[in-house]
Amino acid sequence: MDTKNKGFDTKLVHAGDFEDEFGSAVTPIYQTSTFSFKNADHGANLFAGKEKGFIYTRIGNPTIDALENKLAQLENGFRGVALASGMAAVSTLYTALLKTGDHMVSTGSVYGPSRAVMESIFADFGVESTYTDTSVIENIEKAIKPNTKLLYLETPANPTIQLTDIVEACKIAHKHNILVCVDNTFSSPVLQKPLDLGADIVLHSLTKFINGHADIVGGALIAKDEDVYAKLRKAMTYMGGNMDPHQAYLVIRGVKTLSLRVERAQENAMKVAEYLEAHPKVEWIKYPGLKSFAQHELAKKQMSGFGSMISFGVKGGLEAGKIVMDNVHLAKLAVSLGGVESLIQHPASMTHAAMTKEARIEADITDELVRYAVGIENVEDIIDDLDQALAKI
Ligand SMILES: *Cc1c(COP(=O)(O)O)cnc(C)c1O
Repeated sequence: MDTKNKGFDTKLVHAGDFEDEFGSAVTPIYQTSTFSFKNADHGANLFAGKEKGFIYTRIGNPTIDALENKLAQLENGFRGVALASGMAAVSTLYTALLKTGDHMVSTGSVYGPSRAVMESIFADFGVESTYTDTSVIENIEKAIKPNTKLLYLETPANPTIQLTDIVEACKIAHKHNILVCVDNTFSSPVLQKPLDLGADIVLHSLTKFINGHADIVGGALIAKDEDVYAKLRKAMTYMGGNMDPHQAYLVIRGVKTLSLRVERAQENAMKVAEYLEAHPKVEWIKYPGLKSFAQHELAKKQMSGFGSMISFGVKGGLEAGKIVMDNVHLAKLAVSLGGVESLIQHPASMTHAAMTKEARIEADITDELVRYAVGIENVEDIIDDLDQALAKI
């Protein structure tokens, strides 16, 4: 079905559908590593790109292709590249667009490994980087150098829930001929469409909201134009960070309910945030939907909903935060987010433990910060669970 002019939820269900000779209702899993050619000329034409078809699964596969087409339509991009993990997407992006002597500007509180891989492995290859608080838009202009080639933003950032104004950031970058990639993992295309706001590339950890069932890891890059897409595709094919067909099948299955899941989770998150904000043992709370959230207006401007990620600090710092985590029963103590189940975690000792304490403080990841990824359970149960845990402090 041609879904180009259909609504977003219709695209979630039908975009990229693979129509086979049996009339399969869903895209089947093409669990094959290679594809045979009809004859020598057919093989030659496929390699030369003169005929459409599949050669070898690292290069392309019908199930993966269906997912890539669906994701591109959801983000209003030219085409997508699916990868083995979100980090495979990050490292493929850096490899495709940066070389020795180039410089990248990025959000200070970006996902920990996205920064760690740049400051260790890519730095060893001679790629320079500046991490800055991109929620203050002037900081971006200040960080740009003559050799800056990429602006890599994460908004909302993880786990500080800091937002970067995508429209304004793209204006600055494009004035300097710099490409902009936005990690849209936290919002998913249901709530935010970076390409429509001016970005050149969108990155996803499919592990989170898009797959939504905490049963695979996966990643994707979606480019707005063909040239950038070709560079990403080439880097994926040569570096070998491709997705597996079975993984692609699960993501296609999971993404169909993305709107339903995201809407229910954010409805819950709003109620949980209001409960936490009023709780005497909660020192501070960050949730874009709260009026008290410093960037509430920006959230309303560039997002169509406030998501389901909440960060809060408990009075009593690290120890009190630990008590809460050790006493919740419904929320699982785990990293990750975007699944149907509620998860709670402590960045200073988990996801961002590889950063120095100084770098964490600079990035606003304080010791008492607890991150709650609100799931789609009954909200009364989520709040009761937090309530009994907070009472233990
Ligand atoms: C999880 C995550 C990643 C990395 O994705 P993996 O699938 O774990 O490799 C990147 N960015 C953000 C914002 C994430 O939450």
